[in-house]
Amino acid sequence: MSLWSRMQLVTNEAVKSAAAYPIKSDLFLQKDDGIDFVVRYAPDLKAKPKTPSQPPKKNPFLPPESGLFVDTIGDHHQLILNKFNVLPLHGLLITNEFVEQTDLLTLADFAAVACLLNEADGLVFYNGGRIAGASQTHRHFQLVPKDLGFGEIPIERAVQEVKRHQRSTLFPFQHRLFFLPNYDASTLWDAWTKLEYNWTPYNLLLTRQWMLVVPRSQEAVAGMQINSLGLAGALLVKNLAEQTYLSEQGPMQCLRKVCCI
Ligand code: AMP
Repeated sequence: MSLWSRMQLVTNEAVKSAAAYPIKSDLFLQKDDGIDFVVRYAPDLKAKPKTPSQPPKKNPFLPPESGLFVDTIGDHHQLILNKFNVLPLHGLLITNEFVEQTDLLTLADFAAVACLLNEADGLVFYNGGRIAGASQTHRHFQLVPKDLGFGEIPIERAVQEVKRHQRSTLFPFQHRLFFLPNYDASTLWDAWTKLEYNWTPYNLLLTRQWMLVVPRSQEAVAGMQINSLGLAGALLVKNLAEQTYLSEQGPMQCLRKVCCI
């Protein structure tokens, strides 16, 4: 059974048993700078449901909840579901032992990511620090299908245009885009060490074809928090004020405000 099918099975059970709380959202498209941004309007995000009868744990990943467990990945990692998923399938690749989210990434991390990419042709991302959108300090990568609402990863077309030299730059702010010859652990590790962005809050996005790293200057703009999915072209707004701001300023300008010029 494919990894996506296993994730779907665990998701179905987790929703039934209330181990997972899917968060509803309305979807719309906003075109900007040649990219079809996907915007999710999710007012329920303001009030994530509390786990009934249990006080929130300081570290929800140590140990993870059994109802969210999907699989072990190598010797040092495991895949669990995101408890509060906005996307229909959303996995978290967590380390078995506590490692700070802001500590340097390791070859073992990339070996686990390579395992995921081998099993699932999805988008893997990492919010490197609070400013980059991380809400948990225990190391966690994330895995989602490439379809973030309307088909491909929203930035994919622009990424391919950069590759074919039909677009001069992906973003009007600092970023590094590396096209991967394959997605072996050693290739991912090589690419990561060449990109050299581990000194700052950063968003890291990976597919089987490319690695993108974006250094960050701030966590949010006009209340709208932006994480790696925002850099993939999928933004989340919690209220009408944020939605109005986004449609007036445009997604690219919002991204520019939270990144480094
Ligand atoms: P991030 O906010 O990018 O650091 O990702 C961490 C994710 O962990 C968030 O999207 C939360 O929804 C999710 N989360 C919070 N508590 C739990 C939990 N007990 N089990 C699994 N996922 C959780």
